[in-house]
Order: sequence, then C-alpha cells, then structure tokens
Amino acid sequence: MDSIVDDVRRAVSALHQELVRHQLVAWTSGNVSARVPGEELVVIKPSGLPFEALTPESMVVVDLDANVVDGDYAPSSDTATHCFIYRAMEGVGGIAHTHSPYATAWAARGEEIPCVLTAMADEFGGPIPVGPFARIGGEEIGRGVVDTLTGHRSPAVLMRSHGVFSIGDSPTAAIKAVVMCEDVARTVHLARAYGDVPALAQDDIDALYERYQNVYGQH
Ligand SMILES: [Zn+2]
Repeated sequence: MDSIVDDVRRAVSALHQELVRHQLVAWTSGNVSARVPGEELVVIKPSGLPFEALTPESMVVVDLDANVVDGDYAPSSDTATHCFIYRAMEGVGGIAHTHSPYATAWAARGEEIPCVLTAMADEFGGPIPVGPFARIGGEEIGRGVVDTLTGHRSPAVLMRSHGVFSIGDSPTAAIKAVVMCEDVARTVHLARAYGDVPALAQDDIDALYERYQNVYGQH
C-alpha cells in the first residue's frame, strides 16, 4: 500500500482519540478526515465503529466523489459532506465534526457565538457563524458549510440543529478548531447565564486576530 496513505491513516486514526480525550463525542458520533497530500484521496472514519475500536487499518480511503477506494468498512455517513468541502475548498487539508454539547446548544438555538473573548478573536477572528439546517447523508451539509465559511475568518461553523463542522489546512488544525469552539461556546454560555456580555470592538478583534495568526507561537 502507498506509504503516504498509510501515514494519513495513522494520523486520522490517532486524531479521533483527541475527540474522546476532549469529551467532544458520545457513542459513535463525530468524525475526522484528511486529504491525502498530492492525491485526489481522503481518509475518513468508518461508519458506526466505536472510537476505541478505530485503528489505522479500519480507516476508509475514498476519492473526492466519496467512492470507496480502499477499506474494509463503509465510510462515515458524513463522507459526502466532507468530500463536497474538499472539492470546493482547495486549501482544506482536514475536516472535523462533533455534536459537542455547548456548541451544539448554540446550533440548536440557531444563534452564532458572539466574539466576546480574546481567545475567540485569536482563533476565529470574529463570531462563530451559524450554517443552514440540512439533512444528513447527502451533500447539502457540505454546501452549507462551504457557503457559510467562504470569506469568513472562522474555521468552524455551527450547523443549525446539528453540530459543529470545522476546516483546517491539516486535520490537526481542524481538531483544534472544534476543541476551541466547544471551549468558547461553554465560556460564553456561562457568561451569558448571569448577564449581558459586551462584544469586543472590531478593531480589537482585528488586532488580536492579526497578532495570533502571524506573530504568536514558535516560528
Ligand atoms: Zn453529525
């Protein structure tokens, strides 16, 4: 088997355990996928397997039209969604999806998470937007994700009455976005429970985002 595909299988399998570790998933909900660099292929979670049973070998390789290329299991029921996003957004190298409770509570209300924290300005560059309701299984969710995130700084979207989808230049970046989305969803929820929460000024958001994206961290 192609060794780069094996590398991506190992990475995607291991990253699913991050969803468990951060308590973002229940039972078999939630998934991660990655584009295989330089190939028209995606590695994604198999459908319906418990997280503790996931291995590199159980990951499913599909083409960009969601046809299975290699794998012993059927791919995630969200595969058409992931593939629609990869086809539409060339720079996307990884996608994560969860029904994490606080973020999904905002999605259930159809309410964007306002940008009221420096951590939100850093990571999301503004509010975390709400995408349309769409039925599971086809490409409608993918279209809603692409329509909402195109031209938006946020790498995460709250799909109405469903949960969080995030994109990144790598699957690790997509996982980070769902982890941070749940973190700020919880904090803003707690803040709002006890009173009004002022939004950050746009120029502060812009300055924080610029610094975090371009200056912060190890270079
Ligand atoms: Zn879902």
